[in-house]
Amino acid sequence: MTPPPFLIQLSYNRSTGNFWVDTGLIVLIEQFGEGCYQVEDVLKWLLSQLVRPTGKKGKYYDEVTGDIREYDKVNWVYPTNLFIKVSGSAPKIKVEVEGKEENYFTNPPEFKLDLKLSRKSNVCDLCGDTVPLTDAKMWMYPFVVDPNKFGNFYSGGKRGLRFCARCALAGLAGYLGWLWKAQGRDAFHFFVFHSDLRELDRLHKEVLQPLQVRGSRGGNAPVAFFGPYIHETTLGLLLALFAHVRQSDLLSNEARQYLATLLGASGTDRPPVPIRLYAVTGTPGQAFNMQALREFSKLQSLYRLYERWTDIIAQHQIDPNPHQRVVMIFRQFEARQGDRYETLWRDKISWAVMEFGDPAPFVEQFLFDARAREDNPRPLVRGTIDLLNQYVQEVLNMDAQFQRTLTGFGHTLGTAAQEHKEMGLLYSLRNAKNPEEFYRVLNDAQFRLELTIPEALLKIERGERIGGTPWVRIKTLLSIYAMNAFLRKGAPQAEESQSSEEE
Ligand SMILES: [Zn+2]
Repeated sequence: MTPPPFLIQLSYNRSTGNFWVDTGLIVLIEQFGEGCYQVEDVLKWLLSQLVRPTGKKGKYYDEVTGDIREYDKVNWVYPTNLFIKVSGSAPKIKVEVEGKEENYFTNPPEFKLDLKLSRKSNVCDLCGDTVPLTDAKMWMYPFVVDPNKFGNFYSGGKRGLRFCARCALAGLAGYLGWLWKAQGRDAFHFFVFHSDLRELDRLHKEVLQPLQVRGSRGGNAPVAFFGPYIHETTLGLLLALFAHVRQSDLLSNEARQYLATLLGASGTDRPPVPIRLYAVTGTPGQAFNMQALREFSKLQSLYRLYERWTDIIAQHQIDPNPHQRVVMIFRQFEARQGDRYETLWRDKISWAVMEFGDPAPFVEQFLFDARAREDNPRPLVRGTIDLLNQYVQEVLNMDAQFQRTLTGFGHTLGTAAQEHKEMGLLYSLRNAKNPEEFYRVLNDAQFRLELTIPEALLKIERGERIGGTPWVRIKTLLSIYAMNAFLRKGAPQAEESQSSEEE
């Protein structure tokens, strides 16, 4: 008995607005083209892409010949096997072999997915079509895992989602269009871009596919660095993409220009199409445990910031390869703990920068709680302070003149503290909880290190501001400048040593 030939329609004009399912639609349109297709044919192709031999052998009982035969075992290709838990099935039979009764399959188990569409038509939770529906399963949509946690992505509320055949199949195809990065048993990240279907299609074909890492069990996402946390790995991915805008050994000139336009790079005239990135993190295991889902929508502003960073590195002649230097600067915020690297500071700094918040408190934390406590503490990688200063001026609107004064004084303070072996003074500065404590520490420094405090720093304004900036940010920046100068003076030979990497 053959089921009725359900058809699905694939078209660029019929996006669902759901980033996962639209990614799958792109995968299907790329394979089949626009038009109407039989559900069975699409499902068959998807299975052929998602089920692969494992290299292991199994045995089944051939009822016709009465022989025990070998077959090649198959399974869902990694990492979709973290999400698709449907196992292969075949009838079993009891067979006596060498006096012992055992259960054998009567043919190699088949891996099948069934849409189980309802007879009655109803409204699809994703695209709104009124057609036969199926209950959404993890294999069609990874966000089925925890409806309460990811409520925003459920139009259907708590009753569970119901999809039409097109959305269900596109959902399954989403597993072929994602970028992912795994870190052993600790973390699994995946990324999906979203905008208009045609733009998404072009982004996939011209940019993402050529840049994908192939044949690695660690993932297909190109990343400048990565770790167990979501923001650091997302920034690692974005920096890896940004690297290809100005020049690329992997992208055609046309694709490079397209990427530049999407990111709103300077020199491109067309207003950029809004483009968003969704990043999901969880732990792999028996069942994927989803921990975070983030949407990043300020990619164009972030790209322009990156352009400024590379310009500054070049202008200040810090590195002949400005992109590599920017990567090195962000990558450094990690510390060895036992046999692994802790990268929490890098994650917080990445988060702050991608959200256009203040990364300075995390740089301060890293410098005082991790770097300064190492056996041979090193200062920050050259260029870090230059980027931080630019960021604080342009994003946090700090007065440039005041900042130069603060940078200069921080350097003097740190150098003098090193000469007088007064590291404790810098910790007191870092720990100041209010403006009174802050001034008490400065007073102390003035006396013990024989320094003169710049006058601009002594004027506290309304709202506990100094130089137009909240006092605590001034305290934080001064602590960073001073501790960095202290460490540089203490270990001048190690100044250019690069941070060792776990990757
Ligand atoms: Zn639908």
